[in-house]
Amino acid sequence: MAKHTPAGCDFVSLAAPGVPGLKPYEPGKPIDELEREYGIAGAVKLASNENPLGPGPLAMAAIRAALGSLHRYPDGSGYALKKALAAHLSARASLACSAGAITPDHLTLGNGSNEVLELAARTFVTPADEVVFSEHAFAVYPIVTQAVGARAIVTPARSYGHDLDAMRAAVTERTRLCFIANPNNPTGTWVGSDTLAGFLRSLPNHVLVLIDEAYYEYVDEPGYPDGVAWVERFPNLIVTRTFSKIHGLAGLRLGYGVSHPEVAGLFNRVRQPFNVNSLALAAAEAALGDEGHVARSRRVNRAGLRQLEDTCDALGLSYIPSVANFLCIALPRPGGDVYAALLCEGVITRPIAGYGLPEHLRVTVGTEAENARFAAALTRVLGGRTEQR
Ligand SMILES: *Cc1c(COP(=O)(O)O)cnc(C)c1O
Repeated sequence: MAKHTPAGCDFVSLAAPGVPGLKPYEPGKPIDELEREYGIAGAVKLASNENPLGPGPLAMAAIRAALGSLHRYPDGSGYALKKALAAHLSARASLACSAGAITPDHLTLGNGSNEVLELAARTFVTPADEVVFSEHAFAVYPIVTQAVGARAIVTPARSYGHDLDAMRAAVTERTRLCFIANPNNPTGTWVGSDTLAGFLRSLPNHVLVLIDEAYYEYVDEPGYPDGVAWVERFPNLIVTRTFSKIHGLAGLRLGYGVSHPEVAGLFNRVRQPFNVNSLALAAAEAALGDEGHVARSRRVNRAGLRQLEDTCDALGLSYIPSVANFLCIALPRPGGDVYAALLCEGVITRPIAGYGLPEHLRVTVGTEAENARFAAALTRVLGGRTEQR
């Protein structure tokens, strides 16, 4: 591919203000790519926090049933899914004591919850504004901030997690949006109800807060807040969730935002008319009703997380305590080196130097067999024997 700019054109100087400074998001290495490059088979991917069980049986059946209508545009309003989601979210116990139920008007569907993060930036943030988020927080926050030409204010972490006092102190007249990942990726840390409510209460009205709850369904800690229950109480709050993680539908791209209807109405004007595809709409609606698959996924994750922790303990490695479906492990040498050595063993993990954690590695909880594969490979790698099997 020609790298030279055609004569008379300088595309970089033509690009919108934030664009030349963007660093592309680095996804986890796909299995096919590793097997192609290394000439191996049977590789294991523990790199993108995907559900190792895959989609549930109800979602699979719904996808099959929807295949025959692929010549039609999807329902651009997402009527059926929003109705099901509203009922699902309103039925949660934590909403019973709050003022109102969630209606379809509170909801925004996105091509992954990443699209809702981007919609928040595109809808509310201009190059004159600032966006506040934490060190070690999810990589998409700096990207969507930079893409709209705004200034990112990155606050220092506390014990690898969000320091909401530092975030509050960073809020100025120019702040338009704060991102909070709860729990956070890649650290697996979380913020509790009281701290989060205090933060929300303290904010001026010109600041929107987006709580990213991509791993909400995995968390089982007393004091872990259900952001959706607070949407009525804090009108400047946007909560995002996704079908990519516990529901096992990352490949279909479907996430959603819950917010004040006026905020959702603004997102609805900015978004693409058919941003969510018809297979995703059908699959998500079915997945919502598949409580068995969600419970099974949660169970496998709990056991797997313990398995990974045991591996670390056996190897004398420390890790950041996680409430999600991944573990961030501290290593005696650069995470990138261990990542590369694990690739030779056919195990894909995630180096996170780009998150300011050069001596950690993030490992997604897999099936029992996959976790065991990882444990054996890591043991070999740290023992110094990194030759190929
Ligand atoms: C995985 C993840 C998402 C979800 O992305 P989708 O676009 O819904 O697939 C969002 N936020 C965080 C922190 C994540 O780790």
